[in-house]
Amino acid sequence: HRLTPVILSGFCVPLRRSCDMANSSNRLEGKVAIITGGASGIGEASVRLFVDNGARVIIADVQVEKGTSLASELGKHVAIFKHCDVTLETDVEALVAFAIEQWGKLDIMFNNAGILGKTVVEDVQGLNMQDLRRVLEVNVHGMALGMKYASRAMVDKGTKGVILCTASVASVLGGLAPIPYTVSKHAILGLVRAASSDLGKHGIRVNCISPSGVVTPLLMDYFHDGFGDPNYTPKQAQNFVDTHANLTGHSLSPMDIARAALYLASEDGAFVSGLNLIIDGGFSASNHSLN
Ligand code: NAD
Repeated sequence: HRLTPVILSGFCVPLRRSCDMANSSNRLEGKVAIITGGASGIGEASVRLFVDNGARVIIADVQVEKGTSLASELGKHVAIFKHCDVTLETDVEALVAFAIEQWGKLDIMFNNAGILGKTVVEDVQGLNMQDLRRVLEVNVHGMALGMKYASRAMVDKGTKGVILCTASVASVLGGLAPIPYTVSKHAILGLVRAASSDLGKHGIRVNCISPSGVVTPLLMDYFHDGFGDPNYTPKQAQNFVDTHANLTGHSLSPMDIARAALYLASEDGAFVSGLNLIIDGGFSASNHSLN
């Protein structure tokens, strides 16, 4: 199980610096975006980068304090926090309605909120069905709900929008993550391909992004549970990820994933739909890491 944790990633210390260094090209000027899981990790980096590039963003999350403080740091003319539990249909419907109410349209729906679950070890025989249900509820149902209400609003307004989902390199590899997580991320890929095929006729593009390990709170919780050591540090986690799933010598950061989201959400990705954009430094393409 030594490779189990490697597909999850993102520590936030370099976030501000990375964001300041990013090219603020206004590629999302005039666009309205919702980012679920926007209070932390990959979502937070994406909120910052999208705002930096001219978008107005609704930060949707269950973490009120972090989401509110990020919104107030960025300013309410460009970022508003909205509490939303993505597993609740009424919450997701209200979230999309809120974006329309505030800013009149929805251009980009970034379904990014996700959980890793409590199953730490690869173990089919010991599969915890309750954990499987919960992980599917957040990671799959949550993203399906985001697609459902975002696409309704886009079609209704005639917006040629973009829907993005954060999957994982576990969307294409079976032996790296806890089973419920692997199942959920494979399902997201199916969802994205089906939605891309359906929504293309409305000019709506649908893509997913599949990172390998990024040291975020999601990954740290996993390391703490998995290694049973509450004092395990982000630096140790980073070293682990870099040692086991990094062919490049460069540590993957939340901002690396946000840049991919910016590409897909902007006109740069105008002809890209149904794609699973894997961002893992070549890890999944190489057997080398699995030996
Ligand atoms: P994170 O824990 O920093 O952020 C996830 C956010 O989602 C949190 O703010 C959390 O409050 C929110 N969230 C969880 N359940 C929610 C719900 N029911 N409703 C609304 N919000 C909810 O973790 P992250 O690493 O930034 O994860 C973001 C996405 O990236 C997830 O889908 C995750 O599976 C995926 N991912 C992460 C890694 C990694 O190594 N960190 C790797 C591949 C994919």
